[in-house]
Amino acid sequence: LFTAVEMAPRDPILGLNEQFAADTNPAKVNLGVGVYYDDNGKLPLLECVQAAEKQMMEAPKARGYLPIDGIAAYDAAVKGLVFGADSEPVTSGRVATVQCIGGTGGLKVGADFLKHLNPDAKVLISDPSWENHRALFTNAGFTVESYPYYDAATRGINFAGMLAALNAAPAGTIVVLHACCHNPTGYDITAAQWDEVVAAVKANNLVAFLDMAYQGFGYGLAEDGAVIGKFVAAGLNFFVSTSFSKSFSLYGERVGGLSVLCESKEEASRVLSQLKIVIRTNYSNPPIHGGMVVAMVLDTPELRALWEKELGEMRVRIKAMRQKLVDGLKAAGVKEDMSFITKQIGMFSYSGLAKDQMVRLRNEFGVYGTDTGRMCVAALNSKNIDYVCASIAKVI
Ligand code: PMP
Repeated sequence: LFTAVEMAPRDPILGLNEQFAADTNPAKVNLGVGVYYDDNGKLPLLECVQAAEKQMMEAPKARGYLPIDGIAAYDAAVKGLVFGADSEPVTSGRVATVQCIGGTGGLKVGADFLKHLNPDAKVLISDPSWENHRALFTNAGFTVESYPYYDAATRGINFAGMLAALNAAPAGTIVVLHACCHNPTGYDITAAQWDEVVAAVKANNLVAFLDMAYQGFGYGLAEDGAVIGKFVAAGLNFFVSTSFSKSFSLYGERVGGLSVLCESKEEASRVLSQLKIVIRTNYSNPPIHGGMVVAMVLDTPELRALWEKELGEMRVRIKAMRQKLVDGLKAAGVKEDMSFITKQIGMFSYSGLAKDQMVRLRNEFGVYGTDTGRMCVAALNSKNIDYVCASIAKVI
């Protein structure tokens, strides 16, 4: 039965993790995977999460099946976070939100729904993009192409190219946009450029799919979410996937969501009914624990304030590490101006290093980033930063 089955290539990022785990270099540093570690190099268990879990343990509940679309309070909290609890889309009931298995689940449920809705549409993702975007939409049955994004020559964004690609896209094209903290480059377009993107999406009748995996890691929850308001103000209907993997440090709980902004409450109820079919036929309904924790934190004012404080601390620490990286590289003798690292935002830095330099970093120094030069600055800390700077200096 399986003789013709070919060996699939290793996942480029998770494959790096396996290699890292097998590396015997005591100084090794993993900047490959997109995970936030604290200054002690530990994966944080947020206090707000612990407090919510304590409350849950004090009043243990039996675990029946959740509704197909998840915990109602969770879905409401996601809507509030993405659109604003008092915003017109939420109060008028025209957002269909479902709890999903991580941000990946939100993307996949949206992709499957779109495939039924508009099977011949093309999907455009940024060049480059999060590795899984292309595979996920391809496996959902779409032809996936890309729009220009990163410009290596200027160490920035080829915005003219991006806009031209959107303007050339046929009506109905699904455009996947990183709402904030672009993965892998760390470069976000400006508010004024977002206005132009929104106008292009509208003028060309494109379908925007905003991937919001890092809300709160850029400038703040409201600041990072502001882009959603621009699409709302333009009168567009669009998709937003949400992930709490990073912002709650709940990677393994798989907490995410999908929100679809519709024309009316009635339309939203029809869309919701279809999203539920996608979920029902894939995994039936989502798990309870992570969604419950997030809903409790978002709905309890003291816990929410604690979360915002902890999220802010993560954001500030990443920014401090960016500065330390720039300063440290200079001190280690790198002549090139590396200050672009502090202009990037979110968990990643496109370092500009070539594949052979990244391979050397790995093999000779045990410093792991992706072959594309992406490094997770959220995994730097006061103990490993000097070693990382010295290692990078040696390969530059
Ligand atoms: N989108 C982007 C841009 C991401 O970086 C990630 C996580 N690496 C995801 C989606 C998926 O998030 P999750 O782990 O919650 O599935």
